[in-house]
Amino acid sequence: MAKGEYGLMIDYEFCSGCHACEVGCKMEHQMPKGDFGIKILQDGPRLNSNGKWEYTYIPVPTSLCDLCSARVKANKLPTCVHHCQAGVMVYDTVAELTEKAKRAKKDTMAIFVR
Ligand code: SF4
Ligand code: SF4
Repeated sequence: MAKGEYGLMIDYEFCSGCHACEVGCKMEHQMPKGDFGIKILQDGPRLNSNGKWEYTYIPVPTSLCDLCSARVKANKLPTCVHHCQAGVMVYDTVAELTEKAKRAKKDTMAIFVR
């Protein structure tokens, strides 16, 4: 796999903040305390001036994410994708992810490339 060829796309609209990806990633890579391959950030709860509440979980891969290269070589999905019950994470080529994002036209999607 060439560097930058594959990535993770995360549509955090339906992320429940369950932390399964975070925990699964740490266990898969046997990371020491304090290290994370992905972190769940949180915006809110916060009341906008229009009366609408903002409360969003945003999963963000860190510099320690290697896109689960060992698992992928063994034809398995990255651990975070495998454990996400909400199905908000996709692993694919950057070209394919970009097409999916273009088709979806949403403002809650992010693509991470390694
Ligand atoms: S792709 Fe693998 S290393 Fe990267 S965040 Fe997901 S589980 Fe962790
Ligand atoms: S496993 Fe999925 S739903 Fe749970 S925190 Fe991670 S991205 Fe969000």
